[in-house]
This record gives sequence, C-alpha cells and structure tokens, in this order.
Amino acid sequence: MTLIRDDRQPQVTCDTCPASFRHIYPEAEFLDLMTDIQSDGWRPRKVAGAWHHTCPDCSKTAERRLL
Ligand SMILES: [Zn+2]
Repeated sequence: MTLIRDDRQPQVTCDTCPASFRHIYPEAEFLDLMTDIQSDGWRPRKVAGAWHHTCPDCSKTAERRLL
C-alpha cells in the first residue's frame, strides 16, 4: 500500500539548502508548525504574501555574514 500525502500538506523546506523540517503538519495546524519551527531555530519570513523559511544552519550562516 502506498500512501502519499506530502504534496497536500505544507512541508517546511529551507530556501537556501535542501534541508526540510522533520515534521509535516496538516494545514489546520499551520500555527503550531510556525511555533515549532521557530523554537527549533528556523526563521520564517513573509515576502510578498508568501512564506519563506530558512533552516537553523543557514540562519546561523546568514547572521555570521552580517557581523
Ligand atoms: Zn538551509
């Protein structure tokens, strides 16, 4: 039996590298997902009405670049 639902659910992936958040949430739990990814070090940004996410590793690299 094959069950593929990933394409219907929001999966958080990094904009800068192939990393993705380990959990997949149903759309109704989007706010839980946002809270969880931020406590895990992800950085969500809303750009032109669309969400972009940066994984903890890339966030650290970006912060280091600013210093
Ligand atoms: Zn990344």
